[in-house]
This record gives sequence, structure tokens and C-alpha cells, in this order.
Amino acid sequence: MELLKEAIRKRGSVLSSGVLKVDQFLNHQVDTNLMSAIGEEFARLFADEQVTKVVTIESSGIAPSFMCAHSLQVPLIFARKKKSVTMDKENVYSSRVYSFTKKEYSEVTVSKDWLCAGDRVLIIDDFLANGQAATGLTQIVEEAGAAVAGIGIVIEKSFQDGRALLEGKGYRIESLARISSLEGNKVQFVEESAQFAYNKS
Ligand code: 5GP
Repeated sequence: MELLKEAIRKRGSVLSSGVLKVDQFLNHQVDTNLMSAIGEEFARLFADEQVTKVVTIESSGIAPSFMCAHSLQVPLIFARKKKSVTMDKENVYSSRVYSFTKKEYSEVTVSKDWLCAGDRVLIIDDFLANGQAATGLTQIVEEAGAAVAGIGIVIEKSFQDGRALLEGKGYRIESLARISSLEGNKVQFVEESAQFAYNKS
């Protein structure tokens, strides 16, 4: 998605060879026009999947997944990382997820009230690194007896293992921007590396 790649190039910053900061438009301040375009693009990509619900993980997945759920005209459920007094802890699906950015485990939960057998769930997240967050969400969906209709990722770091892990389990993954490298403080997209390799040969 060109608009997103342009935002990453112009407004993102490389924190290290493994971490990209996009607080300017996605992870802290949110560019609502860009989120709207992202939501529509996910809705277009998964239009044939008979999605009944969108599931994400708080907090950074909420903005893009909200716009996607709105485009598909289905409810959005965000898995919680912290227990809430409003949630009956006997009535939840849960999964233990290791956070790539926080370097700690958290118990991610969704109330049994919002997911049921027969649902076709589109999982959306802001980043794909090693696939832990997405895997945790697929476990919750499957514990509910629902089906994973697909996984939509805003920014995939293709040099990490997430895609291989999830594709190995048979899930359809659509990423709107795929980064092949963050080496040397520079964002390189998968298509650019492919072009570079082609030009060299
Ligand atoms: P995974 O579970 O795939 O290893 O990591 C994905 C999660 O970690 C995402 O939900 C995202 O919040 C966070 N994350 C992973 N890599 C990055 C990154 O380079 N930048 C930012 N801002 N978040 C990341």
C-alpha cells in the first residue's frame, strides 16, 4: 500500500535494526485518514472471507482494526492485556503472549460473550514480528470454536519469523507494508530488495 509506505518512509524512524517507531501516525498519535484507507484496504482484501467479527489486541491494534471492522460492517473485539473488574474471569478465553516490544509475558483475554462457534474472525494487528501476538489471538478464536478467516497486518517485518510461523499453521496473511530490512537506519521494503537483486543479476 503506497500511502502507508510513504508514511513509513517520511514519518517513521528506525530505532534499531529490529524496531521501527511509527508513533507519529499509528502507535501514539493516529492519522485518521490513513487509518481509514488502511481499514478499507483490509476490507477489500478479505471481502470474500465472510468475516463476522474482527479481533485485535489492545492498544495499538485498535485504530486500524476499528476502521476495518467499520468498512466490513461487523463488530470489533479487542483482546485485553490487563484484567478489568467488569470482566468475569471465569467467563473468558485467554492466551499467554510474549510482547516483542515490552519483553514480558501478559495474559490476553476476551470475554466468552463476544465470540462464538460459527464466527469467522479476521485478526488484525499493527506489526508482525515473531508472530506471538497473532498466535495468541488465533488460539483464543479457536478455543471459542470459531474460525480464523485471515490475519491482516499493517506493517510486517519480513526479516523476522512471524509470517513463516503463521503460514506454517495454514493461515492467510495479508500485510499492507512488508519491510525486508531496517539495517543502517534505513527502511527497505520487500519489493525494493527484490528489484535490487533483479538489477544486480
Ligand atoms: P510479535 O508478537 O509478532 O512478535 O510482535 C508484534 C507485536 O509487537 C505488535 O503487536 C506490536 O505492538 C509490537 N511490535 C513488534 N515489532 C514492532 C516494531 O518494530 N515497532 C513497534 N512500534 N511495535 C512492534
